[in-house]
Amino acid sequence: MKDTLKKMDTNLQDVVQYKLDIHGENILMNELIGKQIKIEWSGQVICSCGKKMKKFYRSGFCYDCFYESPLASQSIFKPELCTAHLGIEERDLEWEKTFQLAPHYVYLANSSGIKVGITRGTQGVIRWMDQGASQAILFAEVPNRRFSGDIEVELKKYVDDVTNWRKMLSGIPQPVDLVKMKEKLSAYVPEELKQYILPDNTVTEINYPVREYPKKINSTKLERTPTIEGELKGIKGQYLLLDGDRVFNIRSHEGYISKFSFKEIAQGRLF
Ligand SMILES: [Zn+2]
Repeated sequence: MKDTLKKMDTNLQDVVQYKLDIHGENILMNELIGKQIKIEWSGQVICSCGKKMKKFYRSGFCYDCFYESPLASQSIFKPELCTAHLGIEERDLEWEKTFQLAPHYVYLANSSGIKVGITRGTQGVIRWMDQGASQAILFAEVPNRRFSGDIEVELKKYVDDVTNWRKMLSGIPQPVDLVKMKEKLSAYVPEELKQYILPDNTVTEINYPVREYPKKINSTKLERTPTIEGELKGIKGQYLLLDGDRVFNIRSHEGYISKFSFKEIAQGRLF
């Protein structure tokens, strides 16, 4: 659907470059900073199965997809429950095999303090940018999703596994020595999984196009405010930072059928 919101495409450069694919166009979001943007929600959402409705049942799915689609199964939210590597089906073994039996990475990132996370294949940098991380390091490379879940379960006894988005949006976090953290945490990896810890200790540093961080964060949502309009002050993670300390999480509005537009801000009156 070309008129629905989806998460922005990201590209790692000196400053992350954001693109929004909507109305058949790729809008360079970095160029809209300092301009007036407007998002008008039609009042409808569309599920990935094509069903339109007033609101999603749960987690961006319609009722049927939430209970039947492999994309909404338990192991999507809890990788340590994956069983495709044992040939055990959850909802659709063929789909689960393709999704789970592929290289996965465990990483450490600093977005609002240090956290552990997992990602599939080459998605690492994209995942970090989506989460608004300022630094990140790969921790381990494993052959399937379950093993990454098993490592994560151990590491999250010592570090967070979620981003505190309010903290992430309030500025640039204190730098963390991720190489040292990786060394320390390596000791807690289960013995049989230690072979997957990566020797490479490259730390990726990420900068975001933010002119001004909000002072006290006001989260805006389309259900409450169907038209959101204001000056774009910056972008971090998948959040648009707007004037009035407002923040808008574009990713949590995926599937919202909307109109996106922008214009220059009038600089005083001509006469
Ligand atoms: Zn659906």
